[in-house]
Amino acid sequence: MQRKLERSRAHFRKAAKRLPLGVASNFRYWGDEDTFYIARAEGGRLTDIDGNGYIDYRLGYGPTILGYCDPRVDAAAQEGMRIGSVFALSTERELSVAERIAKMVPAAEMVRFSCSGTEAVMAALRVARAYSGKDGYVVAEGGYHGVFDAALWTTDMEGWAGEGDPDLVPYSGGVPRMLRSLVWQVPLNDADRLEDLFKRQGDKIGAMLIEPIQGNCCAISADPDYVRAVRELCTKHGVVLIVDEVKTGFRVARGGAQEIYGIQADLCTFAKAMGNGYPISAVAGRRDIMSIIGRGVVHGGTYTAHAVSLAAAEKTLEILDETDALETIAGYGERLREGLSGVLKQRSIPHCFVGHPALSGLFFSETPPAGYRDWKASDYLFYDTLAPLLVDRGVLIEPDSREPWFICEAHARDKAAGDCLDETVTAFAAAVD
Ligand code: PMP
Repeated sequence: MQRKLERSRAHFRKAAKRLPLGVASNFRYWGDEDTFYIARAEGGRLTDIDGNGYIDYRLGYGPTILGYCDPRVDAAAQEGMRIGSVFALSTERELSVAERIAKMVPAAEMVRFSCSGTEAVMAALRVARAYSGKDGYVVAEGGYHGVFDAALWTTDMEGWAGEGDPDLVPYSGGVPRMLRSLVWQVPLNDADRLEDLFKRQGDKIGAMLIEPIQGNCCAISADPDYVRAVRELCTKHGVVLIVDEVKTGFRVARGGAQEIYGIQADLCTFAKAMGNGYPISAVAGRRDIMSIIGRGVVHGGTYTAHAVSLAAAEKTLEILDETDALETIAGYGERLREGLSGVLKQRSIPHCFVGHPALSGLFFSETPPAGYRDWKASDYLFYDTLAPLLVDRGVLIEPDSREPWFICEAHARDKAAGDCLDETVTAFAAAVD
């Protein structure tokens, strides 16, 4: 360990007495010695309470699309603050943000706002079940859809022996076992398996949840033919197709993964990038499906469409739609991939990048993965070894190869332009060596 973490360690010992694991989200706990705390952020960089600086490629798991403390978004948020907070009544701005989403995402004929990705997916699943009249739903191996009970089922890849299908197991204690009978898991990219499932169980299955680019699984990307087949099969069998764009939305393209794959979801979910870090999410979709909200189907919440988050989202989406921010982000992502690839090629280390330059999975195998099962065949232990060495050198990535690298506009427009990239590549080379 090169960097000093004394203050973080001392703080952890105190915090762990009052806060479970000393943190506010399990995913922020890095171990008793390695959990560290952030003092401030700016642009694409973080500083921890010991004064260590990082170029941040986690970006809060994706929300920071423009950069931390973006002056344009923060000015809008401050204007929102002057309006108030929440009123148990709506504001005009909800429509203007919904119009922007509809312009960017053709599937978004109607929109409802919530505060987190979890809430948006939870609402989508409820609406899909109510609309289809069927409680069952399908998820893909390696998918992640939030922290509500119906989503807290995970592919047990560590426990998979390599034959048959990996299990779908509860990701948490407290998830009622009886919910297991409502969820089916399919391997990504196997349309025959999905068709077979729909033929056998289609009368029970009301929804399919999919991330075409798996934002929590190395950014593994579904084959375009498969995604088109999923679209057709869902239509044929009366299954509501929910495209979970919590990570891909307003990041990989103005119209998200749906634009890249040329499909329209029945329902889609957004969060993260839509507010540049302010808590806001949305469920959107077909008019006939969304219209059942309020007609027997509940959607609500005290903090939905909070004035501050909504103002931040309005500005963030305006920037993403009307400027070249997304092109800048993808361009930096491309150059970063080239830089890292150069380091690995020089050292003859087999690797590939998957996903999208704005949301990149780095995979230590020659061939791109077709699904989560291929992750197990890759040299992920090399990644797990490399990640902490890189963090120690001031480049913050997740110490788990399944979390992609996120890019924000500020990486490309760093104060000393070009430095972010050079610094990253230099630190990467040192960590690899
Ligand atoms: N869906 C996907 C695809 C996600 O990546 C996440 C969060 N990583 C969620 C849903 C849940 O979002 P949140 O953490 O905001 O509740």
